[in-house]
Amino acid sequence: MPELPEVETTRRMLEPRLLGKIVRDVVHSDDSRYRNTVAMLGKQILKLERRGKYLILRLDDGLDVIVHLKMTGGFRLPTETHFLEVPRFERLRLVLHDSEVSYVDSRRFGFWEVLPTNQWAHIKALSEMGPEPLEAGFLLKPFQVAMAKVSKVKPALLSQKPVAGVGNIYADESLWLAKIHPEAKQLSAVAAKRLHSAIIEVMGKAVAAGGSTLSDNSYQQPDGATGYFQFEHQAYDRAGMPCSRCGAPIEKYFLAGRGTHFCPDCQKR
Ligand SMILES: [Zn+2]
Repeated sequence: MPELPEVETTRRMLEPRLLGKIVRDVVHSDDSRYRNTVAMLGKQILKLERRGKYLILRLDDGLDVIVHLKMTGGFRLPTETHFLEVPRFERLRLVLHDSEVSYVDSRRFGFWEVLPTNQWAHIKALSEMGPEPLEAGFLLKPFQVAMAKVSKVKPALLSQKPVAGVGNIYADESLWLAKIHPEAKQLSAVAAKRLHSAIIEVMGKAVAAGGSTLSDNSYQQPDGATGYFQFEHQAYDRAGMPCSRCGAPIEKYFLAGRGTHFCPDCQKR
């Protein structure tokens, strides 16, 4: 699933192609998954924002378009002014006054919803989301308070409530960097501080690297390039390989249904 670094990379690449453009058409055949897109017609795209793993297009006339890429959603840009062919797994095409942008999603879990500005209360994942890790609002103290109460740290991070945008890959990487076991409970203030710093460091580096493209190749940048952060993974997808800190083999097991990677020597319970 695209996490913060992949969604932010997508946002940065789409932004110059979308800002100021007028929506001429939104072509798709699934009104239940891409809801109320008719309201976008004739509107101008004023901003392209990201919140956690969500993209938010701000349109004029007080409308927001919420896009969640879920497992395999992504965007593809034309190389010139028009597509020469339809990208594989295209589900929706955004027709602008001078160009087109394609939305692809092989597994079709992603969704779009057009709403009045900031009327997100019914999307609990958005309305209850914690602070952005790469913004000044990610304060240490409230994070320490939240971490002091956790029963298992990794599932708590994945809930998006202590901090936004951390999914399975970046939870494993941040916990490895902070030397904290995925099932650690009631973190000390010192451990929570290490984790806070680790999340900021991992997310910053992953955004700079354009995110992570895994072996399934489902995530690509909108221009078709891969991300590069997979080459910097220290724990995720490295089961059996030596920990770069201590040499012990990285272990993998399932925690709350998610493949979880950690160093048994550096990340003791
Ligand atoms: Zn280690």
